[in-house]
Amino acid sequence: MKLIIASNNEGKIREFKKMLEPLGYEPVSMKEAGINAQIAEDGDTFSENAHIKAKTIYEIASCPVLADDSGLEIEFLGGAPGVYSARYAGENATDEERCSKILEEMRGVDKPLRNAKFVCSLYFIRDDDFELCVNGECEGFIGEEPTGENGFGYDPIFMIDDDTSMACLTDEEKNKISHRARALESLVQELKNS
Ligand code: IMP
Repeated sequence: MKLIIASNNEGKIREFKKMLEPLGYEPVSMKEAGINAQIAEDGDTFSENAHIKAKTIYEIASCPVLADDSGLEIEFLGGAPGVYSARYAGENATDEERCSKILEEMRGVDKPLRNAKFVCSLYFIRDDDFELCVNGECEGFIGEEPTGENGFGYDPIFMIDDDTSMACLTDEEKNKISHRARALESLVQELKNS
């Protein structure tokens, strides 16, 4: 079944394809579906933003849609960058620039205060009568410097243990523990129970 993923983020689309294709879905990006919508992500929470994205695309495409909104929450920064994760260092900043800004803000902060988590909300709309929202989290801490070559976004500064950042993992390894994988597991469970 064709499923539009309400995103053009290649890193995310790659992860969703790997996780959803074995379940019989054919995830396509907005670009692949020929949809070019600018969606204002102006909600206060990840789930509000996921809902806004899913609803907008569903109204355009009238076919099953899965939207995610995700980001990084750092305890020491009061939950920032949170829903502003994608634009934390300005609209046109690169992943490297966003990571550098965080590292700068966390410079000199002791390890016990460097706790962070990735959070993901998924909003699925199958048809006019069926929609649901699930969440997933992945806990870790902010490293002292970027490490690892894989992944995207804040992966190089998000440590899952003293020696390993999320960017040190292969896609397969990340997909077992990530916030998106955990949210997807919940989604699959809910779909099985529905
Ligand atoms: P959005 O969900 O497309 O609004 O983007 C959220 C932002 O959070 C992304 O641009 C990344 O900077 C960050 N982010 C979300 N998920 C991940 C992840 O799995 N690894 C690293 N960064 C992530």
